Amino acid sequence: MTRKSFLLTICLLTAAGLLFVPAGRAEADSRPYLHFCGANGTIFGSTTLLHTGKSTLLLDCGLFQEEGYPEREVERRNRFLPFSARDIDYIIVSHVHGDHMGRIPYLVRRGFNGKIYCTKATAELAEIMLPLIEWIRSDDRPIFSETHVRRTLANLVPLEYHRTYTLPDGLRLRFLEAGHILGSAMAYLEFENGGREYSLLYSGDIGNPANPLLRRQDSVEEVDFLITESTYGNRLHNDPEEDREAFRKVVNDTVARGGKVVIPTYVLDRTQNVLYTLNRLIREDAFDRTFNVYVDSPYANRLTGIYRQHYHLFHDDIREEIEDRRLPFSFPGLRSFPPRGRIPGPAVILAPSGMADTGAVREHLANYLPDPNSSVIFVGYQAPGSLGREILEGKSPVRIDRRTVPVRAEAHYLSSFSGHADYRQIGEWLNRSDRIGHIFIIHGQPEASAGLKRHIEEVTPFPASVPAFLDKVYLDTLLPQEEKEEEEPEPRDEVTREAMVR
Ligand SMILES: [Zn+2]
Repeated sequence: MTRKSFLLTICLLTAAGLLFVPAGRAEADSRPYLHFCGANGTIFGSTTLLHTGKSTLLLDCGLFQEEGYPEREVERRNRFLPFSARDIDYIIVSHVHGDHMGRIPYLVRRGFNGKIYCTKATAELAEIMLPLIEWIRSDDRPIFSETHVRRTLANLVPLEYHRTYTLPDGLRLRFLEAGHILGSAMAYLEFENGGREYSLLYSGDIGNPANPLLRRQDSVEEVDFLITESTYGNRLHNDPEEDREAFRKVVNDTVARGGKVVIPTYVLDRTQNVLYTLNRLIREDAFDRTFNVYVDSPYANRLTGIYRQHYHLFHDDIREEIEDRRLPFSFPGLRSFPPRGRIPGPAVILAPSGMADTGAVREHLANYLPDPNSSVIFVGYQAPGSLGREILEGKSPVRIDRRTVPVRAEAHYLSSFSGHADYRQIGEWLNRSDRIGHIFIIHGQPEASAGLKRHIEEVTPFPASVPAFLDKVYLDTLLPQEEKEEEEPEPRDEVTREAMVR
């Protein structure tokens, strides 16, 4: 959505009286509804409001962080709430990524004071990840402060996976495995309204089944409503086995030449995923020579520590390896930090950020991009305009922090390291269910959400729609027809029927 159309939408909806719905307080709103307040037509700002009739809650409350927008516009989008923060009774968080929970401190600033339900691992990761969000350090006009972050962390309620909790409003909540990052969960909700039971599954981000570390995502036998993401709704990943072999070959060939392999990574999950892959290959004797592996980020190293503490959430194979005393993130040559300056000898360097726009990886790229013996491996999506995308598209020289850097190193992109399922994997996951009453597709660029809708219509029997930003959908309007007919009173006699026709 462009800035103009965003403004126009807000103006029209405000004029029509649709925008500032006094959620949960008015007579008309005794019916349950969903209000789509973020990650519609974009992968950022996940915020979906559910009104159950008894209470009003948010499914995630994430930051809008899209690249390529002016800072003012990004700030304005993050400040915009189409509901009153004080009317939100509680929040259910799927996982710790900023685009899913990073805007909660702002909600706290605006008067939200309810509980925030998440998994135990998410609560632990949030202690490190939430204070890292740039917004609290922005000198300009930060949308929240460290105080709001602390109050957010204090209101987290850590819950177990696969256990049903009855919340004070009677809603039953069960966290299922999403397989996206450590602690990521799908929220399965059941609540009663007007004598009818409703069930709803909120997917959050759905993991890539090729992730070697985490458990596969759970499915449900049946559910009335599903809200699903569609990041890769129109794309397929590379074959994971081919990518793993490509990864082995690039590392092997580069270190054989005495070069460096620079891997721009996100501190959370991608770093641990790459470390585990290196560990497996080293254990399998897949490399011709030894080399050091440096992780140049104190946060990545702390997060790896949290991953270590949650081995029970890992894939079955890894739990078995751990029982055999083979640890996923410990291998010869692994070092927490590289030495200052240029690194001697062949080495693999992992450093943030994943798109190379910020962080320690820029220094390593400036040092080793000019070296034809070195390589760069991108293990995640590179947005247009990012330094990573420029390198992948063959641009040379590139600008890195006032330096002009010629690119002579090899550049590779291995998409199967992605943390998200692609559309085929989502289709297979959906088909593990017997019945899904209606699927709402969010969290994707417009073409990705449309692509997933087409795929769902092709391979599953379940109806699906792509709600627009600020759409509000009453759930009873999507109930099966026969149930609605049962509730309608029969006309008493012919005269009444004729009178009704007139
Ligand atoms: Zn995520």
